[in-house]
Amino acid sequence: MIGGERELHLLLVAVEAGLALLAAMALVFLVAPYGRHARPGFGPSLDNRVAWVLMESPAAFGFVAIYMAGEHRLAVASLALLGLWLLHYGQRTLVFPFRLRTTGKRMPALVVLWGFAFNVLNAYVNARWISELGAYTASWLWDPRFVLGATLFVGGWWINLSADTALIALRAPGETEYKLPQGGWFERISCPNYFGEILAWTGWAIATWSWAGASFALFTACNLAPRARANHRWYSRTFSDYPTKRRALIPWVW
Ligand code: NDP
Repeated sequence: MIGGERELHLLLVAVEAGLALLAAMALVFLVAPYGRHARPGFGPSLDNRVAWVLMESPAAFGFVAIYMAGEHRLAVASLALLGLWLLHYGQRTLVFPFRLRTTGKRMPALVVLWGFAFNVLNAYVNARWISELGAYTASWLWDPRFVLGATLFVGGWWINLSADTALIALRAPGETEYKLPQGGWFERISCPNYFGEILAWTGWAIATWSWAGASFALFTACNLAPRARANHRWYSRTFSDYPTKRRALIPWVW
């Protein structure tokens, strides 16, 4: 059974990597219609908060359910990786949506459906790897790849969380307009939250040393780099005093 499942798993990892490349190409031409890029013409929509909870649920609840079915669910290295995953997705699914100041804003059902379906695939690919197919022993916890990857993950997670917190705090409760973010990472780049997210999942790829982790890191970069470019252009168009030294995603570079 596991032999057959390994092949299925590898196929799904390849599907995820293929989706990443397709998404990168599509998102250069079509900016995903949510947040500041929301516009009519994408069909029915959902309340923004409900949309985030729904869309991210497979990455939290589905992930735990799949993880628990694995033979190595009680192995310490698997549990440590589960802890990293839930540090991010517990926050993203159960805390982040309730901190948003997006009163009255909506997200197209199409975006939610796409996010939900991707998260189902990604939850299977990564949860199954860490609790079954990867078969990590306890010594993985002091392997340099785990130590470096986990450090990068936590650092990226922190940058992502603090940048999202700063963006959310730009609005008073009930406000919905956009303001010019200042200070910290925002002095260097327009989207430190995306930069942190990409660092975190790169760390995950290293900490798991797996094609499963690599395909998700690739997906995140392919998804967020075009959006960072779109956000950066939007800021430059919207604020005449937008700092010219600020880059889109990578400090000093791009
Ligand atoms: P944004 O930076 O566009 O927005 C984050 C929040 O801050 C939103 O509530 C937004 O409001 C508000 N906001 C943003 N800029 C301003 C501003 N200038 N003034 C006032 N409020 C502002 O991030 P996303 O919504 O695209 O993503 C949210 C999180 O999800 C991020 O952490 C991101 O990394 C992650 N994500 C991860 C993906 C992945 O592939 N792994 C894919 C997509 C997102 P509003 O909604 O009104 O614009």
